[in-house]
Amino acid sequence: MSHIVVRFPPSPTGHAHIGSYRTAIFNYLYAKQKGGKFLLRIEDTDKERSKKEYQDGILESLEWLGLSYDGEVSIQTENVASHTKAIHTLIDAGHAYISKEEAKDGSGVIKEIVRFKNPNKRVVFNDLILGEISVDSTDLGDFVIARNINDPLYHLAVVVDDMESGVTHVIRGMDHISNTPRQILLIEALSGKIPEYAHIPLVLGEDKQKLSKRKGALSVLEYKKMGYLPSAILNAAAFIGFNPGGEKEIYTLDELIQVFDLSKVQKGGAVFNPVKLDWFNQEHMKLMSEDAYIEYVTPFIPTSVVENVDTASLKKILLIVRDRLSYAGELANMDTDPSYTYLYSSNSSLSTEEISNLLLVPEKMRKGTEVTKESTAAILNEVKSILENTTEEDYNTVESIKEKLWSFAEEKGRGIVLWPLRIALTLQEKSVDPFSMLYILGKSESMVRVQKAIDVMVQ
Ligand code: GLU
Repeated sequence: MSHIVVRFPPSPTGHAHIGSYRTAIFNYLYAKQKGGKFLLRIEDTDKERSKKEYQDGILESLEWLGLSYDGEVSIQTENVASHTKAIHTLIDAGHAYISKEEAKDGSGVIKEIVRFKNPNKRVVFNDLILGEISVDSTDLGDFVIARNINDPLYHLAVVVDDMESGVTHVIRGMDHISNTPRQILLIEALSGKIPEYAHIPLVLGEDKQKLSKRKGALSVLEYKKMGYLPSAILNAAAFIGFNPGGEKEIYTLDELIQVFDLSKVQKGGAVFNPVKLDWFNQEHMKLMSEDAYIEYVTPFIPTSVVENVDTASLKKILLIVRDRLSYAGELANMDTDPSYTYLYSSNSSLSTEEISNLLLVPEKMRKGTEVTKESTAAILNEVKSILENTTEEDYNTVESIKEKLWSFAEEKGRGIVLWPLRIALTLQEKSVDPFSMLYILGKSESMVRVQKAIDVMVQ
């Protein structure tokens, strides 16, 4: 095992959006590629805003994404003894001092806060993404490191925790870059080893402003609830501000581990595009076997549909709609959305006259050929005799049933045959193609529907 140790230290003060998990993903990829460790630390020093529910959400999100951390999760506030010890060390060595100051709340109360004795020097570090950063620490003044000797503030806590857990690489959002000089000064004063730093670009919304919950950025758990695949979220998030190069965009977690490269992370803000996420999800759905796909979408289908539609037909329907689906949650209204209901229910509100009109091939689909009720009935009769000669196995795939009818459709004109057949099977002006519908319905139901359409035409 290499000596590399990275950490993901979220503050449990809200449901984090995809941008925060992108930080986790970069850390995870870096650690796994180098055979290092990926640690999880909950930074709950802001006691008022930190909540257990958010902490649980972080753990659930990481588990769902498959980002497993090494060892136990550490909780920052449980390490106060070490933080206090470090404050004493700093005071004893003359790097920090207690300063009696009036509380800012106007109460006149005098507090003993702890300030870091700024050495007023130039802090230089080589950021793995941004290159050399040089800051004059004088501007930072003697910054506060604890509200009192037993109540450490954020910078001190981070530094002590990172040092204790042997963190070698701090990969975090660009919004933390102004914290780095203070943290480096503290590490030096505590005789620690300065880690490598990589500050990754901010995640922007499509308005090019920082992505935020207020502007509708969803949390990872909301995406989970909507039925996105964790592999798609991982892939999409990893591609915010990173691209391994080349044409390939669809990567599994294992593949991402292989190609991740901090030096290819862009410097400027990176836009997260939810439409692209849908594309990633569709592409990841395509990577699934039929059975895995069915298992993935089934929990999102309304119970009434699962209970009332026979399993084999439902499976066929789900395979047919796979290409138009962005994420599984779109199936949640399968029980009411008319673009789904006709696929499993023959109920139609159309009158016989409406059906009869619909069966006549529209002008633009018949290239001048005249159609009448009689000619339509004749075509459907011929289709029916072809179907009579099919076997149940011919309906096992869309292709195999298409093969049975294709030459007849070519001979008569595709529109002339396929339009009335599609209407006969679906009773919908817009629907899936007739071969998909034959595949879903199977031989006997298809023949019943074709016969019904013939009856309407000869009435
Ligand atoms: N707790 C900080 C956050 O949630 C991370 C600090 C760090 O990475 O050093 O943004």
